[in-house]
Amino acid sequence: MKTKGFTTAILHSDRAGGIEHGSLHKPVHNSITFAHATAADISAVFQGRQAGLTYGRQVNPTVMALEKKLSLMEGGLATCCFATGMAAISATMLSLLRAGDHLVSSAFLFGNTNSVFNTLKNFGIEVTFVDATDAANVAAALQPNTRAVFVETIANPCTQIADLAGIGALCKTHGVLFVVDNTMTSPWSFQPKSVDAGLVINSLSKFICGHGNALGGSVTETGIFDWSTFPNIYPNYQTGNASGWGLQQIRKKGLRDTGATLSPEAAHHISVGAETLALRQQRSSSNAQRLAEFFSAQPAVKQVFYPGLTSHPQHDRASTLFRHFGALMSIELKPEVDCFKFIDALQLAAIASNLGDNRTLVIPVAHTIYYEMGPQRRAEMGISDGTVRLSIGIEDIEDLLADFEQALQKAA
Ligand SMILES: *Cc1c(COP(=O)(O)O)cnc(C)c1O
Repeated sequence: MKTKGFTTAILHSDRAGGIEHGSLHKPVHNSITFAHATAADISAVFQGRQAGLTYGRQVNPTVMALEKKLSLMEGGLATCCFATGMAAISATMLSLLRAGDHLVSSAFLFGNTNSVFNTLKNFGIEVTFVDATDAANVAAALQPNTRAVFVETIANPCTQIADLAGIGALCKTHGVLFVVDNTMTSPWSFQPKSVDAGLVINSLSKFICGHGNALGGSVTETGIFDWSTFPNIYPNYQTGNASGWGLQQIRKKGLRDTGATLSPEAAHHISVGAETLALRQQRSSSNAQRLAEFFSAQPAVKQVFYPGLTSHPQHDRASTLFRHFGALMSIELKPEVDCFKFIDALQLAAIASNLGDNRTLVIPVAHTIYYEMGPQRRAEMGISDGTVRLSIGIEDIEDLLADFEQALQKAA
């Protein structure tokens, strides 16, 4: 099993469990509850003494098949899926942190993650935002009550790359949980387990599904963190090997308390999408590289944020850690060029929120997803009013180049 390549393993993982009629996909199981032969059986299943399924909020066979696939992709022990990426992040933090705890987070964050971390502050959890491109900033923020460090791999929208290896080593030395949001890289490009992350979060809505037709999120336990040193695991979940306690609590408490369950239909869409993750990412990443080089040569463009450019401050880090430079890029137009005019002139790229779609999407971030956080926080994150975020799709590169070229001409 372990010797299989990434795509081979995904393509054949459903069949490993034996499926009725020789079906090649795990069927979509829509039953929300599961019957048992006897009262003793259902009691044993509820008490964890016997394998079996209880209720659809907590378990579903189609979702379990996807969880197995995600564990293979991340090289992890186990995975718990959620209705969205935000649900995965919220449930992780709500089930693992308590009032009086401290969280260190990268300052360069997906906007809604920034929002939920500010919500945690209302419940007595201290949060310190730091520039995570240098592990020294994380080290300086650690406190005796620091329970976790949270970073994204490639940050949205300005593509800063966290000092993943440095922070991983720091967390290991201090016995602090390292949580990595791998959405922007995806497990095809990068496995956070390789830098000692204990938990890996993915928004399945993005590259893993890829087709923009299902929402989902996941948390994978890599098996690296020793939960016996973590003070917040309830006695009920301190069963079995301590490397699995965290996910046990996230699944039992986090999923139950938030009720943010992934639907079996969505799990099926995401599973099918994941089959072509590697192919799609190779294509979107090579498209993005060509476009980044194109934009860099345009007089109307002030700055291009893309890790594949040698001018990117963390280009070497990205080359070392990731298999490719990804499909996320931002451009900042010169002040005299109207970014709305540029966006409105696009004929192919869609004006839409979301990332990791097969289609190229553009959005003026300061005026939309980062609007609510206000100008000060935007400035800290390097977002200007003219910043346009692009999520590059798998279209033919000549068509993308032609579209952006004509739009820049119209805007200039
Ligand atoms: C989109 C995204 C999320 C949230 O995922 P949803 O499925 O949209 O809730 C979290 N982290 C990152 C980096 C994202 O891009």
